[in-house]
Amino acid sequence: MDYLIKGVILHWTASSYNLTPNVLKHYNFVIDQFAKVHDGLHPLAHQTPPLNSGKYAAHTRRHNSYQAGIGLLGMHGAKEKPFSYGKYPITAIQFMAAVKLTATICIDHGITVTPQTVLTHAEVQDNLGIKQRGKWDITNLPWNSSIIGATAVGSHYRNLVRVEMDRRLTKPTQSPWAALFSAIAAKFGGKKT
Ligand SMILES: [Zn+2]
Repeated sequence: MDYLIKGVILHWTASSYNLTPNVLKHYNFVIDQFAKVHDGLHPLAHQTPPLNSGKYAAHTRRHNSYQAGIGLLGMHGAKEKPFSYGKYPITAIQFMAAVKLTATICIDHGITVTPQTVLTHAEVQDNLGIKQRGKWDITNLPWNSSIIGATAVGSHYRNLVRVEMDRRLTKPTQSPWAALFSAIAAKFGGKKT
């Protein structure tokens, strides 16, 4: 890889479930409500500075250099207080797809998961000190009302990413049956009919 990615910012798109060109140009990846990952207009390599207008995914105010932007499609018409998720709520499977994609990006680019490297848009202002003009994606999970607020949702996201990374990076120990099978296969040429 001849480009660097140093962090991942998770958003919702504040749009309907329609995958429009406007949505695709703002994020490197857009995940729909069925958990399908769509490539945005700009691949990750476009986040390498210098960033020229229209030539990169502008997902986060003043924090796009070396930053992957993932957008969860939905949340148009959602209200922060009192929380209502509108007609296009983000879904649990969509969120889990983002966790998996984030783990892939972190493994591929050697990113250590911290509140400064892997975070939601709603955490950017507090965690990085970059003003974001009232962004609240993601502070509520429509399927889990016990996790509320930027920090709680962000911690939940990072914990799931760490678990997914550990799962992939930990080699399963080979079972004795598999070892026996390999030995037999080797002895008889390993050909199956
Ligand atoms: Zn955002």
